[in-house]
Amino acid sequence: MIEFKNVNKYFGKFHVLKNVNLTIQKGEVVVIIGPSGSGKSTALRCINRLETITDGELVVNGVPLHDKKVDINAFRRNIGMVFQHFNLYPHKKVIDNIVLAPTKVLGVSKEEAQKTAMLYLEKVGIAEKAQSYPSELSGGQQQRVAIARGLAMNPELMLFDEPTSALDPEMIGEVLDVMRSLTHNGMTMVIVTHEMGFAREVADRVVFMDQGQIVEEAPAAEFFDNPKEERAQLFLGRLL
Ligand code: ADP
Ligand code: MG
Repeated sequence: MIEFKNVNKYFGKFHVLKNVNLTIQKGEVVVIIGPSGSGKSTALRCINRLETITDGELVVNGVPLHDKKVDINAFRRNIGMVFQHFNLYPHKKVIDNIVLAPTKVLGVSKEEAQKTAMLYLEKVGIAEKAQSYPSELSGGQQQRVAIARGLAMNPELMLFDEPTSALDPEMIGEVLDVMRSLTHNGMTMVIVTHEMGFAREVADRVVFMDQGQIVEEAPAAEFFDNPKEERAQLFLGRLL
């Protein structure tokens, strides 16, 4: 589903991704962890070409993103992204936030899109808020709407960038529960998070980044029980 081959990215002179090599299989759940500023968001944003790579190769879902000619809108239809900040449209009701992309981008009829939207709102446990505005919802509820909005495009790949980092502690669990319910149903998921317990539980593989490099990658239990690289040991030690 995703293949980084010798990927480098610079912001001006700043070398943010350093020779990244990473292969993610279809259906896999991969969690990326690492200190702040290590390049996790940048790597994730390259996957749906919110950022372009400077050199190397990046192929996502068969599409060579290093090729400047690719149709990026068609490509993005297959990818959902959930950010730390939910980015809901404040002047649209919850249901209309979800209906928007399927009707505008996929050309689904409004009735059909509303039906689908309600299904996903039920899936994230928030169907009763369909007619509310985002400002009337808690942070956790808004993030669940954002997840439903991503799912409504029926993507093969979902990217999550610290989806619980902006939430009050009591709301983190409800969002992680929703994400957990999505894992291992065939959808590929790449998740940047600081929730180590969650990472250990859901990840097929953990990728540890530091200073723009992938320092270690391993199955979740192996990584958390027995990190091999000193930087990973330090990082995990700091969190204990
Ligand atoms: P992480 O998500 O791991 O915290 P980021 O990918 O956001 O890290 O950032 C990695 C580094 O790149 C940081 O030093 C950050 O300041 C820098 N950076 C991120 N985005 C930009 C940008 N648009 N322009 C310049 N520097 C950036
Ligand atoms: Mg980040």
